[in-house]
Amino acid sequence: MQSQDKKGKLYIIGIGPGDQELLTLKALKALKESEYIIGHNRYIKLIEGIETDAKKISKGMGKEIERTNMAFELAKNNTVSLISGGDPAIYGLLGLVIELIMKNNNDIDYEVIPGISAFSVANIRLGCPISNDFAVISLSDLLIPWEVIKKRIKHAVSGDFVISIYNPSSRGRVNRLKEAIDVLKEYRLDCWVGIVKNATRSNEEHIICRCRDLDKYIDFVDMSTILIVGNSETKYNDMLITPRGYKL
Ligand code: SAH
Repeated sequence: MQSQDKKGKLYIIGIGPGDQELLTLKALKALKESEYIIGHNRYIKLIEGIETDAKKISKGMGKEIERTNMAFELAKNNTVSLISGGDPAIYGLLGLVIELIMKNNNDIDYEVIPGISAFSVANIRLGCPISNDFAVISLSDLLIPWEVIKKRIKHAVSGDFVISIYNPSSRGRVNRLKEAIDVLKEYRLDCWVGIVKNATRSNEEHIICRCRDLDKYIDFVDMSTILIVGNSETKYNDMLITPRGYKL
């Protein structure tokens, strides 16, 4: 039994893209000292094997508010880690945590530990298509209307940003990827695109193709895939590179 006056702490941790060697030392330390680790089933799996006495609590998709409130409650008297894949600020739980703290005037003791986001590892697998300005867009329309997402893609494309596309697909959302590809093709038919699946995990794969050929790979794309869409400057020769402008 925890004594009621024991002071708790909440860590909001980014566990990185999968490879446990890409966890920060701070994240590892926090996970080891936690009494509870709360996260989506998929992310709890990714930290399997890390030595900790923590009780692991996993919840499925769509339970984010429930998961976060549970973390607040437990963190009153316990050390709790709320984990997100990659970085917790990038389509992870940090935004929600801050919103709830603001809304409830919660005076919880918390610390955020950043993580390596998927775009960072996908980029280096492909060469370095992200070496200049880039945009990050999620195709998930669970919280944002699809028309808004489409508008953002259009603006990123017309601004000639390299674009990292998160959440490109999931059960029931295959058409969204097809529609996004159609928008990209309107402007970037000849541009290069890298598709990276399961980056840093044992089953990692990637494909590089022209935007015009993207439709062929729709079935390759799943929930653990990220796309990096090159801009008008991005070149391919075994690797993708968007030149930074050095005179070479
Ligand atoms: N917070 C995470 C992103 C969560 S959203 C981060 O910073 O990376 C989930 C999406 O991230 C997935 O649908 C996929 O597009 C991308 N993603 C996360 N891990 C990945 C990996 N190891 N390889 C490829 N894409 C990944």
